[in-house]
Amino acid sequence: MARVVIFSGAGISAESGLSTFRDTGGLWEKYRIEEICQAGCLSWNRENTLAFYDARREQLASVTPNTAHYAIAKLQAKYPNDVAIITQNVDDLFERAGCKDILHLHGFLPRLRCEQCGATHLIGYTKQERTFTCKNCGGSFRPDIVFFGEAAPMYEHLYDAMQDCQFLVIIGSSGNVIDMDHFALHVKVSILNNLEPSDAINERVYTKVLHQKATEAIDEIVEDIERFMQG
Ligand code: NAD
Repeated sequence: MARVVIFSGAGISAESGLSTFRDTGGLWEKYRIEEICQAGCLSWNRENTLAFYDARREQLASVTPNTAHYAIAKLQAKYPNDVAIITQNVDDLFERAGCKDILHLHGFLPRLRCEQCGATHLIGYTKQERTFTCKNCGGSFRPDIVFFGEAAPMYEHLYDAMQDCQFLVIIGSSGNVIDMDHFALHVKVSILNNLEPSDAINERVYTKVLHQKATEAIDEIVEDIERFMQG
């Protein structure tokens, strides 16, 4: 298991043009979360929900990874067994930057999942074909996204991935969905990088706090990790 864990949220993709929940004037101000990504939406608001994720895939096709994604990919290529990447993001910007084995805790936008048997199917950035059914069981597909109020099966792997962690980096997460503070208390070094303090994060438990854009903070973060790896 990796000694360095990089845990990210929507903030790392903000500079690529994907808005976070908290951006003013951003995407999420235009939609009510409870109508398009809450458990049950697919039964009472199916077409709007599917159309929302079709639009997210289309948007994803139009953006590119930023220098923070690329710097993390370079670091992981140098220390393949010692750098683990965990993200709450459903975008594929880490993959496109060249990162490997990314743990997506909340699903993956370019992928559909059978509502009946759980089989997955990559559709890239295309629209979900509404009549397309699972070849294994005939079930219907849904976006492979964990909605609020649904179980998140990948959380189990979060604990596994944190097992040997000595250096934890959090980038672009408000801590409202997943609380990482307790992990920060148990590692040797922890760095938090967000634009501003969050009510859901106790910044005092982190070794270093960087209130900067991820693309500005990433060089310092990588230098600190390099020093740790060599020391
Ligand atoms: P959040 O919106 O709650 O918080 C975003 C955090 O990022 C804030 O603390 C903010 O200070 C910070 N931030 C914003 N711009 C930044 C930048 N340029 N550099 C560094 N930090 C920056 O996001 P969250 O904690 O990830 O939780 C919300 C949920 O939203 C997650 O489950 C995630 O799946 C989902 N989400 C994902 C995407 C995506 O896949 N790109 C986009 C929006 C929301």
